[in-house]
Amino acid sequence: MDIRKVFIVGSGLMGSGIAQVCAQSGLEVVLYDIDTEALKKALKNIEWSVGKFVEKGELREEKSIIMGRIKTASDFSETGTCGLIIEAVFENLDLKKEIFEKADALAQPETLMASNTSSIPITEIAVATKRPERVLGLHFFSPVPMMKAVEVIRGQSTTDETMLQGKQFVIRIGKEPIMVNRDVAGFVINRINFPSTMEAMRLVEEGVTTVEDIDKGLRLASGRRMGIFETGDMVGLDVTYGALMSMYRETGDPRWFPPMILRRKVKSGELGRKTGKGWYEYDKEGRKKTK
Ligand code: NAD
Repeated sequence: MDIRKVFIVGSGLMGSGIAQVCAQSGLEVVLYDIDTEALKKALKNIEWSVGKFVEKGELREEKSIIMGRIKTASDFSETGTCGLIIEAVFENLDLKKEIFEKADALAQPETLMASNTSSIPITEIAVATKRPERVLGLHFFSPVPMMKAVEVIRGQSTTDETMLQGKQFVIRIGKEPIMVNRDVAGFVINRINFPSTMEAMRLVEEGVTTVEDIDKGLRLASGRRMGIFETGDMVGLDVTYGALMSMYRETGDPRWFPPMILRRKVKSGELGRKTGKGWYEYDKEGRKKTK
């Protein structure tokens, strides 16, 4: 099936970003979330972000045309008319399996099913369907409209044809595919990034330096646009925690066990931008408060 219409499950930070880049590339999008408030917020955020791109002259089409390609759904019925389903709900295996099982029952046999999971093996999600050969990982990075890379991940049963279709889809939406041939814990980019993220947390925990100085140092010495902690607040501390725990459970390797400082912050609800406090504090408009 030609991918002209995409069904996206979960309209949070990632699902809304994926919906936006698909619509900007001319694809029809159906966005579903169990939480209707999340759907409303997603549409507002997408409209704001598309508006910014149009203002900067980076999009040739008008905002209303792009927004007109996105509609919301209150159930899975439209999965039957979509060539690709992308799941972007919370990082929880049981929840993801439930979604895949439900969508699999309604989708056309040739429809591809992808998860945006940061860390759960694609193979474990794919077993919830009757089409594991058409299940793959499409791992976007946040903020999705800005970040060019998308990991295309092969599960145990994913066919070459599915990988190729995944790769072509990523190119079609203006991104660069990073091909991942085995669904190892953390895939490629997180497996490289997480050790330095955890080391930064431990340096703060040990009182060696501060969150602010680490971020400043990384911006000035490593050429990063954002520091590790600024990125962490955008991603969500719970998301990083969930990914690390799933890598730890998958491998049994203690090097992935989240540092105490992260565990405590997550337990106390300091999840980053979305709760107004994480490594930094934010005002109601989401702007970082200066000390
Ligand atoms: P988020 O919390 O912003 O959004 C998750 C959304 O899923 C919420 O709107 C929630 O209402 C919805 N949801 C929960 N249960 C649902 C259900 N049963 N049916 C439909 N919708 C449901 O999370 P996020 O940051 O967008 O992360 C989503 C996924 O993407 C996770 O698997 C995460 O690991 C992965 N991911 C996140 C990032 C990041 O930077 N945040 C990067 C790459 C991958």
